Amino acid sequence: MISKDSMTIRTRFAPSPTGLLHIGNARAALFNFLFTRHHGGKFLLRIEDTDRERSTQEAIEVIFAGLKWMGITPDEEPVFQSSREARHREVALDLLKKGLAYKCFCTPEELKEMRESALKEGKPPRYNGLWRDRDPSDAPAGAPYVIRIKAPREGETIITDLVQGEVRVANAELDDMILLRSDGTPTYQHAVVVDDHDMGITHVLRGDDHLTNTFRQTMIYSAMGWDLPHFGHLPLIHGPDGAKLSKRHGASSVMEFCNIGYLPEALCNYLLRLGWGHGDVEILSREEQIQLFDIDGVGRSASRMDYAKLEHFNAVWLRQTDNTRLTNDVMERFKNLKDVQADETTRLRVKTLMPELKERARTLVELAENASFLARRTPLPFTQKAEKILTPEARLMLCELAKDLADLEPFTCEAIDATLRQFAEKHGYKLGQIAQPLRAAVTGSHSSPGIDATLHALGRDETLARLGALHDS
Ligand code: GLU
Repeated sequence: MISKDSMTIRTRFAPSPTGLLHIGNARAALFNFLFTRHHGGKFLLRIEDTDRERSTQEAIEVIFAGLKWMGITPDEEPVFQSSREARHREVALDLLKKGLAYKCFCTPEELKEMRESALKEGKPPRYNGLWRDRDPSDAPAGAPYVIRIKAPREGETIITDLVQGEVRVANAELDDMILLRSDGTPTYQHAVVVDDHDMGITHVLRGDDHLTNTFRQTMIYSAMGWDLPHFGHLPLIHGPDGAKLSKRHGASSVMEFCNIGYLPEALCNYLLRLGWGHGDVEILSREEQIQLFDIDGVGRSASRMDYAKLEHFNAVWLRQTDNTRLTNDVMERFKNLKDVQADETTRLRVKTLMPELKERARTLVELAENASFLARRTPLPFTQKAEKILTPEARLMLCELAKDLADLEPFTCEAIDATLRQFAEKHGYKLGQIAQPLRAAVTGSHSSPGIDATLHALGRDETLARLGALHDS
């Protein structure tokens, strides 16, 4: 364990495995990670898997996969909260021994009654401290009990939050919360504090929905005489309409964004800009993010998810991404498309045309769709627009043109371009009058990258085969 005085920064991301990595959580992970890298500390991962039913291996893998995809790697082996129950119990029993916590033998009926009468009196439904000063021997022998902390009753708890500034609560608002349940398992509030302390966490950056938890958790730190970490509560991400971000707004979990064609760089860059600013700079590499990120740039108010802006970020990042990586991704996505051949010939074509293709797509799904004509084999499916372009005259013209392309060697973009120009001149066409039917014939649609690059990527044989197939369609 490290002393906080040495101020080696240690942060953590502490997700509960729910089966999804929500982008609000993913952003908390990113901020912790960047903050730690910026200051040269250690970023840790703690899986809060105490809810045994939800915490399946599959749900845990979702977190690992999401973080890996985002390039957020912890500096130490992940800690599994469920493996630390004995320690959580030890701390609760220590507080009990010191008289700072007590056994509460209330039955569920008593607790229900307590809540109901508080509500009747117009008070918040809190535990009223029934067993706080009572002798445990008053309870029937062998009766189940929980361990509750003795919450301070006077004064205030003040937190100097790194994002929200000074926030305070009257201690009368905090009740004697449970540390250990009657089956000996720790509550969330208790386990988090013990783990953060033992892991030497110096800075806790998490969603501002945890602010009330923080007030309650400080009671355990004080009772144990432990130093408080620094807290920074990050505003939440809302939907475009200002309501809590949910399915109804669109994608909201990391893997959904991956599946619908977003690059991790784009999502991370966007999530960073959503709650943190550095002047007008929008697009930042990971190195720049690490260099510039600090907690004082985090805004206080909730941000609104802007899907169009994210798409713009993705388009910008796509253009900067390596062609081989994009080709591999497209080849993977071809597996979801019908009537395509994801073989080596296709790969070569996609890679050849990638510099052009990536200029025109906003997502990887769109990129794969735009590239799919390269993976089809004759007879191509034609869109209605393409059919319309391919009039009988256009087909005749393409038949003539095929003769000029047949002996073109080498089949380079320059040579193709020159041939098309000569053909246009010889027959009195404008270049567009040739390019559009040609595009329709070889791609099956009315849009593609430049015609010379398109033919070049297909290669001479395939181009001629596609033009030849026009006779049969
Ligand atoms: N496990 C909690 C959650 O997923 C977070 C705990 C924390 O960051 O302190 O909401």
